Amino acid sequence: MTNSVRIGQGYDVHAFGDGDHVVLGGVRIAHDCGVLAHSDGDVVIHALCDALLGALALGDIGVHFPPTDPRWQDADSRLFLRHCAALVAERGWRLGNADITVVCERPKVSPHAAAMRANLAADLGVALDDISVKATTSERLGFTGRGEGLAAMAVALLVRA
Ligand code: MG
Repeated sequence: MTNSVRIGQGYDVHAFGDGDHVVLGGVRIAHDCGVLAHSDGDVVIHALCDALLGALALGDIGVHFPPTDPRWQDADSRLFLRHCAALVAERGWRLGNADITVVCERPKVSPHAAAMRANLAADLGVALDDISVKATTSERLGFTGRGEGLAAMAVALLVRA
């Protein structure tokens, strides 16, 4: 790792299923369904973890937290994020900034974006303005448009600590 900056990207999807809330960026959002997932199904954190792991070339979240491992049953994904933050620091990097986009028709994400940013910044030990959370719909097209699930994309830039 000879460069002074590293970039990573992540993408995650979960299908909607039974339940009464979704968890996004560590924020519990009341909803008329939940998501199918082994953990809490937080696509924001899963995409962000994959971006951090990608920047470190350390594989993906499934390698570090196998869905077959009963320890991660209904796990709080913030544990995963804090683990990834520790890996970043251990290897001599720090997060420059991260930008996340949530894709869904519902629930409405923007009212919760500030709380999500605060959670993510706290877990990563960075300032609030180093973390961006945006939301978009897919104009009723595709699986997110049909309300079958939700997705998130993330990019993260690491700089030398
Ligand atoms: Mg996931």
